[in-house]
Amino acid sequence: MSTLPPDPLLRAAVLAWVFAVGAVIGSFLNVVIARVPVGESIVHPPSRCPACGAGIRWFDNIPIVSWLLLRARCRRCAAPISWRYPAVELLGALAALIAFQRHGLTFAAAAELAFVAALVALAFIDLDTWLLPHAITWPVLGTGLAASALGVAAAPSLRSSALGAALGFAAFALVSIVGERVLRKEALGFGDVWLLAGLGAWLGAGALIPVVLFASTQGALVGLAQIAAGKGQPGPAAEEPEASDPPGTPPDAPAAPVRDGPAASPPSEEVASQGPASEHDGAREDDDWVPPRHAVPFGPFLVLGALEWLYGAHALASLVPGLRPFL
Ligand SMILES: [Zn+2]
Repeated sequence: MSTLPPDPLLRAAVLAWVFAVGAVIGSFLNVVIARVPVGESIVHPPSRCPACGAGIRWFDNIPIVSWLLLRARCRRCAAPISWRYPAVELLGALAALIAFQRHGLTFAAAAELAFVAALVALAFIDLDTWLLPHAITWPVLGTGLAASALGVAAAPSLRSSALGAALGFAAFALVSIVGERVLRKEALGFGDVWLLAGLGAWLGAGALIPVVLFASTQGALVGLAQIAAGKGQPGPAAEEPEASDPPGTPPDAPAAPVRDGPAASPPSEEVASQGPASEHDGAREDDDWVPPRHAVPFGPFLVLGALEWLYGAHALASLVPGLRPFL
């Protein structure tokens, strides 16, 4: 579908440029993933080594390349740099190449790239902090409706987009509230509810059932594999919620749902003073909620399901006829 020039050298140059643009977006996503959950600015200050505080010079900040040249270590203090940085940069580059392949150099490609970039950031933030910040989920919902109105989203129509947003929110909010009332434990965070509304807005109402189906299946498989391997991921907090807060106790702040992102309310001084070393705890505003043992956050699997449907809906539906009504 893309309009690549016939000359092989020119073609390689265009693809390299698209790859580089995507890698730079991935580099920006690394900043978003580290800073948005702790309520820090994503433009200031410039990146520093979390271990020694040394400013990262531009030549040490080239996506993917610098990590390889530095052999995954800080130039000054030799502290290891996580493989996740180049991995997220590579994901950005891949998303750009796929968007270009699917839509060419168009506004639709840019819109799809922005959507996928936001999903990648949300997935990694949820893995780190069990939060899906409103600072990202609300813009995903808003831009999904706008992109559908402009005809550049995957949703077949604005009507399908609006219906998807409403159904995604309503269905998941129901599960979330019923789970809390009946099971007296959190079935789903409200972050998941807003994310699904955003997915409905971008992908259309028909996508919701396959996306949730893919997400739960893969989430369950990974959860079972973790139990089988004997290593549950207990989440950011270790203590049991019952110790301090008996089940059924009405929350003292009903306006602040569990897994609420810092975006909804300004981060406390306590959070801000904890610094990047303890961002895991600092990002968690709600002390009542503890992820169940062996549980995995659901957000990354919703993202996975959404990407599978975005990129592969037609291929999957041709393999599995039961998926055809959802196209
Ligand atoms: Zn360092």
